[in-house]
Parts: sequence; C-alpha cells; structure tokens
Amino acid sequence: MMSLGAHGLASLMLIVLFIGFSGAELLAIEDSDMVYKPEGKSRIHVDGCKRFGRATAEVKAKTPKMTWGEAKKQGLTFCSRCPAQKGVAPTTNSKSKGKSSGAVTRDETAIKKHAKSVRSRLQEPEKKYDPNTKAYCDVLWMRAHEENCEQLILKEYKKYIPLEQADKEGWRIGEYGQNGRKHCCFKGYRRKHPVAEPPEDILVRGVPGKRLHFDGCMRSGPTKDQPRMTLKEARAKGITICGHCVGRGPSLTYISEKHWKNIATNGESFTPPEGWEPKAFSPGAYPSKSEIDIYIKQSLQGNSGIMGVQFDNPVATVENFMTMRFFFPVGPWLKYYMDYRSTGDKRFLDKLLESARYYNKLSKEYTSACQLKASIPEGMSYMLSMAAWSRITLQLALKYPDSVKQSEIAEAEDILKTMIMVLKPTCEGDENLNTEFGIPQALVTIYQSVMYNKSSSGMGTLAMASAALEDLQKLKKTTKYQSTIDRYRKCVQGWYKNWKENGCLYTEADGKTYFYYAYAGTGQKRADGLMTGSADDVGHFGISMSGVALVHDSTPELGADDEFMTALANAIYHNSGTKNGSIQCPTADKIKPMSRHPHNPNPKTQFFWFEAFRDGLIEAQCQQVNASVKKNTLSSLNGRCTTLFGQYLKARRKDSTLVHLGKK
Ligand SMILES: [Zn+2]
Ligand SMILES: [Zn+2]
Ligand SMILES: [Zn+2]
Ligand SMILES: [Zn+2]
Repeated sequence: MMSLGAHGLASLMLIVLFIGFSGAELLAIEDSDMVYKPEGKSRIHVDGCKRFGRATAEVKAKTPKMTWGEAKKQGLTFCSRCPAQKGVAPTTNSKSKGKSSGAVTRDETAIKKHAKSVRSRLQEPEKKYDPNTKAYCDVLWMRAHEENCEQLILKEYKKYIPLEQADKEGWRIGEYGQNGRKHCCFKGYRRKHPVAEPPEDILVRGVPGKRLHFDGCMRSGPTKDQPRMTLKEARAKGITICGHCVGRGPSLTYISEKHWKNIATNGESFTPPEGWEPKAFSPGAYPSKSEIDIYIKQSLQGNSGIMGVQFDNPVATVENFMTMRFFFPVGPWLKYYMDYRSTGDKRFLDKLLESARYYNKLSKEYTSACQLKASIPEGMSYMLSMAAWSRITLQLALKYPDSVKQSEIAEAEDILKTMIMVLKPTCEGDENLNTEFGIPQALVTIYQSVMYNKSSSGMGTLAMASAALEDLQKLKKTTKYQSTIDRYRKCVQGWYKNWKENGCLYTEADGKTYFYYAYAGTGQKRADGLMTGSADDVGHFGISMSGVALVHDSTPELGADDEFMTALANAIYHNSGTKNGSIQCPTADKIKPMSRHPHNPNPKTQFFWFEAFRDGLIEAQCQQVNASVKKNTLSSLNGRCTTLFGQYLKARRKDSTLVHLGKK
C-alpha cells in the first residue's frame, strides 16, 4: 500500500475497507432468483443493491420483477453498483463474510476472480469488429482500448495497432482498473488468441519466500528490501507470482531509478530519547516544550504523502496515478495539516509543500488525465496537499505579513491556478446546471450516488481551495477569482445539503442533537425524520470525518459549523458506549441496532479531536478496554496527534482567526 503502511491514522480504516470490498461476501446467483428492472431503465438490480436500495418501499413494490434466468435471456445486465454485477448475488448470511475464503489463498482467489471477470464478458452479446479497428495501447499494463474509451487516458502519447494484431499479440482487450477486472470498451468482442504470458526475462520484485510482483502491482511496495530478479530466476527458486499479477498480466515498464533512490533515502525510524516513554497528551493542557519537541521529531519521520510510483515511462506514472484511490490515502496529508495547526512548526508545512509541488507539476504536465481524475470528489482529494498548503500559507500571509515571503504567495497562487484549471470542467461552466444546487447536474448525480466517505475529503479540498482564493483576493486586492470561489462554495454547500437531507439530524428528549447517516443513500425514515437501517460503520464514519475537519476549518458556514460538529460528536460519544458497529442516535439504536461491520471496542484515535465539541469524548472512547490498551492508544503517535488537534479546535472556537497553537 505504498507510503500508507507507515501511517497508523489510516490503518484501522484500511482493515475495515478491505473487509468491506472483499469478494468473500458474494455468492452465486441462481436462475430462479428474482431481479428488479425499473421501467425505462436498461439495467437490473438485486434486492441488496445500494443504488436500488435508495428507492422507497412504494417504488420498490411497483418495480417489475423477473427471474435472473429470464433477465439473462433478454440480455439484461446488472447496474454497476449491484453486488450481483458479475453474475453473483449477495449472501444474506453476513456471518460467513471473510471466513469462507479460509481454505483458499488470496492468490488463488485473485486468479479466480479475474477468470470470472473474463467469463462474464461472454454475457455481453457478441459484436463484430473490423479487424483494422484502432486499438490504443496502454504503457503500464499490456492493455488495448477503443479510440473513444473513457479509460483511455493520454491518448496523444499512445500508439495504436489494428485490433487483430492486438489480439494476436495477446494484449488484454478493454480491461481496466488495478486488477484488470473491469471492462471499458470493445464490448461484445470475442478474442481469438490467448492473452500474452509474461516473458521469462521480465524483472519482478518482492519478498523472497512470499510472492513476487510485476512493477506497478498495488498489492505490495515498492519498499527498499525487495530484491529484483527475472521471472525465470524466481521460478527456479520456487517463488510464486502474486495472483493479482497473474490475473492482470505483465507490465511494460519498470519503476524508475529515481523512485528507488527516493525510497532508499526515506523513512529513517525515530529513535526515542534515552529514558523517554510515550505518554498521553491531556485533552485540556498543552504539553511541555520538551514533549512537543519529541512529538514533532517523531511526526516528521514520515514521507510527504506523495502517492504512487514513478516509472521509466512517465506516461505509465500517470496511468498508475489514475488507479490510485484518494479517499483514505490522505492520512499523511491530514496528519501534517493537523500537526501544523497544533504546533505551528513550519516543517509540517514544508512536508505538505513537497507533496503539493509534486501534484502541481503532475497536473500541469498531464492536465487532461488530472481533469478526468478530479471529475469525481474522491479524485479531487489528490490535490489535498496543494489546497492545505496554499490555505495555511495565505492565511499566515494575511495575519502575519512578515512571516511569509512574496515568492511563497506567488507559489500559492500558482498552485491554486492549477487547481482551478483541473477543476474547471467538473465544477464550473453554466451548461446543464442543477437549478436547486446551482452546480453542474453531473456533480449532483455523483453526490447522490457515491458513498459519503469517498467524497468527503474532496469536499474538504474544495473548501480549503475556496478559502485560500478568498485570502489571495484580499492580499492582491482583486476580485478576479470571485466566480470560481462562489462556485466552489456552492459545490461544498450542495454536498452537505444532500448529506444532511439523506442522513439524520435527530434531537433526543434530553435536547441533544445527533447526526448520523447511511453508508450510501439513505435508510428508512420515520415521519419525524428518525432514520433506521443502513447507518455507516465506525470505520467509514471516521473516513468521512477527515473531510469534515477540513470543511470546518475553511468554510464552516457551508455545512460543518459548530452545531453540526457537536451533533457528530454526540453520535460518536453515544456509540462509544454501545456494542454497535454502526453509529446512530440512541433512539434508533433502541429500535434497530446496526453493525455494517462488527463492533470493535478499541478507542478510535480518528475521533479524538471531537473532544472539542463534546467534553469527555476521549474518555468515553476508552470505556470498553483495559488500562493497558487505553494507555497504548492514548500515547500512540496518532492518539497524541488527534488529542492535540482537539485542543486547537477548542481554542479556535473562542478565536476564529487562530492559525495554530504552539510557538508564534
Ligand atoms: Zn465498511
Ligand atoms: Zn443495482
Ligand atoms: Zn477501454
Ligand atoms: Zn502483484
């Protein structure tokens, strides 16, 4: 998982996510199983589909049903969100999740899944293609696309060959995604030749004794302890190739020398001072200077959070970037952002800048790909370090003019201009506006269909960019960014409006208001608005909160004001004392307790900063564990980080212009 592994802030979330996305919860669908086909729509759904699940009971009752056998005969296919889209349906027994795969290795599962995805293409009605149809060749993986394929990025840098030749040479035709299990183009094409086997002399890398990977595999590394060898050598030693690599096929380029060098010089581990032991930070009192100095030293050990791998072929670097998911990997950026707010140590800003410069350059050089990446909120998050660094730098320039150089202001403006360029096709323009939200309809559709935890950080990125642009206008005494600012603000506001309408703000008898929400869409709503069912699990809830912190920072008035933060804090506080894996308000828990994922009694450091909105929240988070687990969690680096950030937020409630705690 690249640089992520080093970051505990995200690691708990990661585990949760991997359970969530594992295929072990899928079972074969029988011909006699019922599927739904909404009138006038070409796609069918199973009952457990998230998208279809948003429909009201009334609509569901009216939706025509048929058997899967009948649907197949009509050539109908499942919606892209359907758990049954690959010809399987969700199991109703959630207990079997994750356990059924015990006897099968992850490699075998990966190979089987790829084979299944290949077989599923036979369900597409056959379509004849002219053998001379242009097949565009990717540069990272051996894949060929149709000229107008959405997944064909940076076409201007790629060669094309006749489809017939691509087939003969063994290119994967119309596959995309990290695992190559998704299908984008050449629909209905039936290949005539087998896919290419990896050449014997291709270099592989990995951990001997475990498994080896082609460069670019997202399953492992690269880390500096992974020796390289040819596939032939690996086979002679009896080392097996990772199942994802087998399924997806060989790569066409290698990780660059420069990238290996970066890895080699990165991440010396922290040596604690003699006799020092980590201790919890108090939620109320700022730590001593020596404790803060140690904390800063330890926190600066990590990398800058640049995601992705650089290859010999720079176009492959961008292809790889396009497959990276940016909704949870923002861990390092979020931590540096929080650490700066809590300490005022400029070295945290420098870390953000290192990453911001990388993504600024990437965005300028490969604008079309980056525009595609940022066309959904999750993808916008790749610019989080750009937005965060510019936001803080310009905030400082306004408040402490002597502390920021003209060249830094100019760099912030340059970075923000890049963001505007990247976001323009998605956020700006007046065509196809949704009149209620005042933003492009395409974006509203995404707001309404994508899981909240995926989009939240993208909204935080937009919010920080809009606040930074406002500060820039003040510094430069201009209004030239006003229309962009207005639009970004509407984009953030619209997302929160949709989230709150579909989620549940519920005031209990004791007068406290709680906010919680469904993993996607909404749950069952009572006449008074109380929502039951579908509530998001603790892990994903925590991911959503990262983005909320940033919107609260930059544009609280657009949806993340103190009142809303308090409602979130109340819900988290309440959940800390339950055995429920999903967060709801007390009344909903009484009616129907929810666990999207199993309850975990451990305190979650990603919630500690809500102490600023509900006194005693950290203590409440620890109520189900013994003293030693409590001590370890509170004194962990992330525990100290989020406790301290809670102090900053609390101080900021009293002084909204506060840039940071700690030294001036
Ligand atoms: Zn989950
Ligand atoms: Zn569906
Ligand atoms: Zn394609
Ligand atoms: Zn692999």
